[in-house]
Amino acid sequence: MRYKPSVVRPCDQIPPVELCAKVNDRLRTATNNPFDFAEHVRHRTYVVRSLPIAHPHECVVMLDAGVDALLPSDFPSLPTVSEADFDVNKTPGKGLGLFARRLFRCNETVLVEHPVVIMPYLVGPSVPLSDVYADMFGRLSAEVLQAIRSLPCPSSGKDFKDSYETILPTSTIAISLPVPREPFAELATHKALFLTATRCNHSCGPNSKWEWDEKKLSLVLTAVRQINPGDEITIAYVPPHLPFDGRREALLDGFAFECHCLHCVQPGIDIRQSDANRHAVCTFWDVDKMTSGPFAKLPAFDKWCLEPSIPAYILIDAHRRALDIIQDEGLEILDTHPGSGPGHHAHPHRDVGRHIDAIAMCYGALEDADNFLIWIRKAAAAREMDDPEQKLVFSKWMSNPMSFPVWGWRKVFCAGDAEEVKRLSKDMENGDEKGDSTVGLAACIKMGMFGFVGK
Ligand SMILES: [Zn+2]
Repeated sequence: MRYKPSVVRPCDQIPPVELCAKVNDRLRTATNNPFDFAEHVRHRTYVVRSLPIAHPHECVVMLDAGVDALLPSDFPSLPTVSEADFDVNKTPGKGLGLFARRLFRCNETVLVEHPVVIMPYLVGPSVPLSDVYADMFGRLSAEVLQAIRSLPCPSSGKDFKDSYETILPTSTIAISLPVPREPFAELATHKALFLTATRCNHSCGPNSKWEWDEKKLSLVLTAVRQINPGDEITIAYVPPHLPFDGRREALLDGFAFECHCLHCVQPGIDIRQSDANRHAVCTFWDVDKMTSGPFAKLPAFDKWCLEPSIPAYILIDAHRRALDIIQDEGLEILDTHPGSGPGHHAHPHRDVGRHIDAIAMCYGALEDADNFLIWIRKAAAAREMDDPEQKLVFSKWMSNPMSFPVWGWRKVFCAGDAEEVKRLSKDMENGDEKGDSTVGLAACIKMGMFGFVGK
C-alpha cells in the first residue's frame, strides 16, 4: 500500500466567499490569469505518490492529477550530500543553523538537494488535510521522518514535535515544477520540504544563494563569497536590496521573526546610510532610478572615452566605491541584470564581476598597464575559466595588454588625433576588423565585458 498512489477527490464544498476573494485577488495579480479558487477546489483531483528521485532520500508528492500526468517520468539522481561539509549547530537566537566544516570558494557549489515532500500551494481536497499528510508522511522512511521531526518551527521558536501541519507552512520553500504555465500558471507553483537546505538561516548580507533547478528537481546552494570553516552558511529569505524597514516587514510577514544579523543590529550601525548605500549599488546600472546619490549622472563608457572634459578617473572611482559598498553590506549576491539585448550578458560573478570588468576596461582605455593587469587578473579569476577559449583570450590580454580591444581609447579619442580616431571608430563598429576574433571586441562582448560599462 505504501508505494501505491492514492487519489484524492475534489472537494464538493465551496470555501468561504471571503477566502475565495482573498485567494483570487492574490493569484490574479501574481499570474495575470482569471483565476477562480471556487472552481479550482471543485475540479482538482490529486495524486499522492513517491517520485523516483530516491537518492539519497525518497520524495513524496501530492500533485494535481493533470500536473502529475505532465511530469517527466525520470529525473537525474544527485551526488550524495557530503555530511562532512557541514555541522548543524545552535546559533544565538536563531535555533539551529548550517555551519561550514571546510572552506568554500566563491561560486563553489555548497549543496545540491532533492526535496523530501512536494505539494501544491493551493489545495481543496475532499478529505481533511491531516489525512492527506498522514498518507504522505506514511510513505517516508523512519530516518526521514525523524529528520523532519527535528526541523525547527520558526513560528513557535520550538522544535517541531506534534503535527506535520505545523511544519509544512513554516519550513517549506516555493518551487516550480517543469510543466506548462499555460493556461493555469498557478499549477506549476508548489512548496517543497528539504532536510538540509531548510537549516540555512537568513542574513541581510548572505554568503550564499539558492536556486531551484526545475529540470533536475533540486535545490542548488552556491557560495557568493568565500565561506571559511566555522562560518554560518546563510541565504537571503527576502530581497537584500530592500531598505531596513522593508526587510523587517517582509521577514515578520513571511517568516515571523525579526532579523538580528550583522547588518541589522551591529553596534553603531547607521541604518539610513546602509539603506542609501544599498539603494545606490542596487540601482547602479539603472539610469532611470539613479537620479541622486554617489552614482548619479555617471557617463557611459564610450562617452567617457570621447569627452576630455569628463574627469579621467570618474568611472574607476565609482566602480571601486560600488565594490566597497557591496563588501561592507555583504551584497555579493547582487545580480541586477541590467537590461537585455546586444552586449548585455549574464555575468558568472554577478554585479561584483561587472564592476571588476568595468574597472579593468577603464584602466585599459587609459593605457595604465600596471592597474590594468591587476584588474584583468581579477576579472579572469571571477570567471570559472574552464572554457579554453576564454582562458586563451584572458591570457592574451594579460601577456600583451595592447591586444585588449579598448586599449588606449580614452587617450587617443581625447587627444583628438583624427587618423587614430577614424581607425578606432572603425574598430568600435566592426569589432572583428583586427582579423583575430579571439582578441577582438566581439570576444569582449561575448564574455559580457563590454555591455555593462555603458550606462
Ligand atoms: Zn538583517
